[in-house]
Amino acid sequence: MARTPKYPNPSFFKYKDEINWKAQAENMKEIFGIAKDMIKEVDMKHFWGVQKFKMKDDLNRVKEEFIEFKDMSAAEKADVIINGEKHLGRLYRKGDMATVRREWRGIKDTLYDFKEWAHIWGMLLLTFSKDLIPALNGLFYYRWYVSYFCCHGFADKCMMGLRGSNLRLSHMATYEIFRYVAENLVFLSKCDEKNGNCRELSRKTVLFDEMTMGQIMGGFPDLLGIPHQLLPVFLVSEIDQLTCVPYIDAVESYGLPSDTCPVPSSECGALVIDALPHMGSCFLSSSMPCDGSTMASSYFKRRFPDMPVFHLCFPVRYYDEETVQMGAEDIRACIKFIEDQTGAKWNWDAYFNQIKRFNEETTYELQKWEINKTAHPQFIGPVYELFRKWNYEMDGGADPRTLKAMRKMNKVLLKAYDKKEEPYPGKMKYRAIVWSCPAHYYANFSNWAANCWGIDVLVEMESLNFTKMLETEDKEEALRDLARLYERMVMRRHTNGGYQNVVDELWAQCEAWNAPFVIMYQNVACKNMATVQGILDEQGRERGIDMIWVEHDLMDPRTVSRRSMRDKVSQYMRTVKQAEPIDASLVDFEDDICM
Ligand code: SF4
Repeated sequence: MARTPKYPNPSFFKYKDEINWKAQAENMKEIFGIAKDMIKEVDMKHFWGVQKFKMKDDLNRVKEEFIEFKDMSAAEKADVIINGEKHLGRLYRKGDMATVRREWRGIKDTLYDFKEWAHIWGMLLLTFSKDLIPALNGLFYYRWYVSYFCCHGFADKCMMGLRGSNLRLSHMATYEIFRYVAENLVFLSKCDEKNGNCRELSRKTVLFDEMTMGQIMGGFPDLLGIPHQLLPVFLVSEIDQLTCVPYIDAVESYGLPSDTCPVPSSECGALVIDALPHMGSCFLSSSMPCDGSTMASSYFKRRFPDMPVFHLCFPVRYYDEETVQMGAEDIRACIKFIEDQTGAKWNWDAYFNQIKRFNEETTYELQKWEINKTAHPQFIGPVYELFRKWNYEMDGGADPRTLKAMRKMNKVLLKAYDKKEEPYPGKMKYRAIVWSCPAHYYANFSNWAANCWGIDVLVEMESLNFTKMLETEDKEEALRDLARLYERMVMRRHTNGGYQNVVDELWAQCEAWNAPFVIMYQNVACKNMATVQGILDEQGRERGIDMIWVEHDLMDPRTVSRRSMRDKVSQYMRTVKQAEPIDASLVDFEDDICM
């Protein structure tokens, strides 16, 4: 049996950089100038005052925690030592960018958590060391780059309150995503003309927009496919809620109306302030049906006028098989475009191998769903949601290491199910579904809902896009399947798929998952979803579904803060459900700048 080639292709890391050292020196001079000005402007008295306050506050907190522990009964002490702490709100402090300390999860889980923390650090250092200079130099070009250095804090927040197998599954999934991010950060830095300037790799790189799925690159094993805006815009906004604010401001100052959806606004703004690396042989854009997203493609073309662009234009008629051939022809033309631009040849064997992996991964995903539909859900929380989106949209079976990890995860999952473990011990009160576009600056919202109110999110709308096993033998049918898949990329099927896909589908899913609770993420700028708001409300009421409407503005937390989002849930729980919180310390806390 032929050996599976290594992923990513090891030669990609080895191509020679052509760094312009003079330009680097000038950039560093500019950076030091900015840093000097910033330091000059700092009110040192205020700065040291804040440090003094924090030191005092830390001491008080330690004292309080000690006294609280001392006053506990022997049984309570044993419970804290073995099962971990219960008041997670105390981990936040007003005005802090990080939590005050890491969570105590009980001896066994804390040890495991630290081991995985070190594991991620080891992977990051090893990956960055594959081309250290451009990888670190990225810090001096892009402010979004810095936010990735907080990825550990992000992981901690997404896993707050998790214990046992759910903690293990979340760590395994996080590791897979972080490794993808770290490797692609190195590639972006390496190819960027301003930074590593590796022309050889750049010529082999195909860029695509952040909604376009990665599976098409399966037929080009000698090329590197990178979603150009994913790391500088989309994903980083999940880690750091403030990253996209300057992008939005920049493009609005160009005249873009402020009620445009922050996804395309941020993409356009990133182009306006030159926050995207200059690289690649060509660009693939998708026909997002939203006006804003189409605009983002035209901004790209204006920012990089010499870059050849292919627009994938799929019909938005998911139940109409007659349109599938049109999509397949679009895919065929796109393959030809990539071949023409890069000189590479489409390889059916490589494509089928990747898709076989992707199909197996889909089987594991369905296994998770089957378990979560039962009375004993196992893998839930933000990491489960993020992993599915990343695996479906970006990995798509490309990386054999992901499949290996998923096989391992499946074993842990089945064992946990056999033992009927509780993913959030003692906090499994309400079964919920999250619907509509998730708030990008609040990735760990479902985690908060579980820890504070016992609302356990079993699945999230974007996970449910498409689960058909893709064709791996017949070439014509494979193209048609790829078209079916691409038609259902993120934010196409539900939010833009019309009544059946967003309204009827929701009630069908509530039934399938036995979830009488819906957290309805209401993006205030999403006109598509606004058209069905009244219908959803009315039908939800008729069906006796608990619908909690949570307004948000995707990448822009200034319109609706995380605190306001939490308030909506808390108000509903208190007034409609007459419920008391499981962890009262999480009902109200300030995290406006906490990453
Ligand atoms: S949130 Fe709505 S408007 Fe924005 S990209 Fe998604 S579907 Fe389009």
